[in-house]
Amino acid sequence: MTPSRYRRILLKISGEMLAGTQAYGIQPDILHTLAEEISEVVKMEVEVALVIGGGNIFRGIAASATGMERASADYMGMLATMLNALALQNALEKREITTRVLSAIEMRQLAEGYIRRRAIRHLEKKRVVIFAAGTGNPYFTTDTAAALRAMEIGADVILKGTKVNGIYDSDPVTNPKATMFEEVSFLTVLNKRLKVMDSTAITLCMDNKLPLIVFNLSETGNLKRVVNKEKIGTLVTTTPKHP
Ligand code: UDP
Repeated sequence: MTPSRYRRILLKISGEMLAGTQAYGIQPDILHTLAEEISEVVKMEVEVALVIGGGNIFRGIAASATGMERASADYMGMLATMLNALALQNALEKREITTRVLSAIEMRQLAEGYIRRRAIRHLEKKRVVIFAAGTGNPYFTTDTAAALRAMEIGADVILKGTKVNGIYDSDPVTNPKATMFEEVSFLTVLNKRLKVMDSTAITLCMDNKLPLIVFNLSETGNLKRVVNKEKIGTLVTTTPKHP
């Protein structure tokens, strides 16, 4: 029998999400709302792993466009994810949620180093695991880190929390006639270059048949709804009902 809710999830939160209405940095009320949403599903005994972006603070590709060496800029981007991870850890712990930050770049005084088996053990003990520093490699994104870690820990699904309701055939911000997909295939996402995650992340999910749900994380209660398998957002699979 298929379980009625997901057992182990990997939630990807972009840096942009943490910035809220600000152009830069972390908006405190957003941080606390997110922590509240996450703590609700932790209380449901769901095992939660988080990958946090850094785009609200520093994006490697943007800095390299202004002349900085790409690899150095990317390492700065990875450090930015650590700032967000520590902020989220603090907000969760204020709600008495036990957390561990696991970093792909060693920062011993701040976080544990990433060890796959250790991450799984923390999850089994119902600790929220926050993966920081992306994959630890330049030229990648935290979306790819999310796909990679989700596979490594055996997550049931990747949940990509965004500010929009799901995946649209065109940009809903600029085109009022844009329509949202209920389900879509990874191949369509790649071929139509739909802005979901970068192609490396999408390919990784597709090759390993890991489902992805893109949904609106800024709406209260949505995380809980997705975890309970309510039909919200867009489901990306290898075998969508209406490809
Ligand atoms: N980054 C990287 N390798 C990784 C993950 C991230 O080099 O595995 C760098 C890259 O410069 C990126 C920045 O960290 O621009 C912040 O991550 P990302 O842009 O994915 O954050 P988000 O868009 O989710 O806020």
